[in-house]
Amino acid sequence: MRLLVSAERMWTGTTEHLVEDGAVLVERGLITAVGPRAELAESAPDAHAYDFPGHTILPGLINAHVHLSLDAGAEPINTLLASEDDELLNGMAERAEQALDAGTTTVRDLGDRNGTAIRIRDAVARGELTGPRILAAGPPLTVHGGHCWFLGGEVERDENSLRRAVARRAELGADTVKVMASGGQITPNSPAMWQSQFSGDELRVIVDESRRHGLPVAAHAHGSDAITDAVAAGVTTVEHCTWLGPDGMDEREPVIRAMRDSGIRVCAGQSRNWHGLGAVVGEDLARRFHRRLSNLVEAGVGVIIGTDAGLRDSVFHDFAGALGLYEHLGFDNERILRMATSEAAEALGLGRLTGRVVPGLRADLVVVRGDPLARLSDLGEVALTIANGTPHHPRAAA
Ligand SMILES: [Zn+2]
Repeated sequence: MRLLVSAERMWTGTTEHLVEDGAVLVERGLITAVGPRAELAESAPDAHAYDFPGHTILPGLINAHVHLSLDAGAEPINTLLASEDDELLNGMAERAEQALDAGTTTVRDLGDRNGTAIRIRDAVARGELTGPRILAAGPPLTVHGGHCWFLGGEVERDENSLRRAVARRAELGADTVKVMASGGQITPNSPAMWQSQFSGDELRVIVDESRRHGLPVAAHAHGSDAITDAVAAGVTTVEHCTWLGPDGMDEREPVIRAMRDSGIRVCAGQSRNWHGLGAVVGEDLARRFHRRLSNLVEAGVGVIIGTDAGLRDSVFHDFAGALGLYEHLGFDNERILRMATSEAAEALGLGRLTGRVVPGLRADLVVVRGDPLARLSDLGEVALTIANGTPHHPRAAA
């Protein structure tokens, strides 16, 4: 069946970006035509039509850092530890659907337990579940007792063990390798956030083995030493990139330049709760902390957007709320939308598949009430999501 989706305006994500009274023709999961509504309607009179006056059509959004196996409740880790895999999978299917409710048509899952996100990915791809396209890492590599050890990715630090651990993820069908290069926030009795968990040489082995399997590497790194080592090792993305040292923030210009020169992207990993940070660490530090992202962009480093959905209160159904941070930092709306669509697709190796509204790409679309180019928060007013050609009506329609 052909679908004809039309709205008062359409932002395609390309250079000639805005189409008044725009329409998209969808056939067998692909975008087959894009243009003025009248033209497309004439060319496809039999298509099933969805028309949205007062709305905007955009490329489906890409949340580049989520954890489907965590439930975003008050105690996500305890909930995970208390759940068997079957129960966990039910919750993950529900959260995958919540991502669609928010107009998110692609998520990158950067750490699950037992490859559960890979199973959800495959079930969505087979059409057994309703959900976004999922890129999944499986259990993140970490040291014994290290950050997120409870996801099952603890590894010995000798070369053979590291290579075997990467190869196992490739066998499991992972789309990417995730390594906890530094400590993190949520794991009791593990290294501090600024402390490195792996040496530069160990990260190099992980990157080398991942390349042999054709897999990109996402490095969780809060610590400046870990960021420096991850960049030198040639990872694909640095997650968080918070520049922490033992005595506070420690931004390193030469490392930023190295990231720009080698095309390493940063994924921020900040949920809609970003404005609460000042109350916790003080407004000054919070400002510097958030400013690191504009500093990266100004230096020419690609920044993509993830929310770490699954962590406490970091919900799957409000991606738009997280984007407010970038507006607060002074980015214009079109730039923010590109970061959450075409630039994310490029960074994740999906640029020929999704991220723009152009013929030949998969039909990943979101229709929102209003005009997010004029008012970013309109992005939260999702009327319809189309993921890989399949329409999804948001359940908690605003
Ligand atoms: Zn994470």
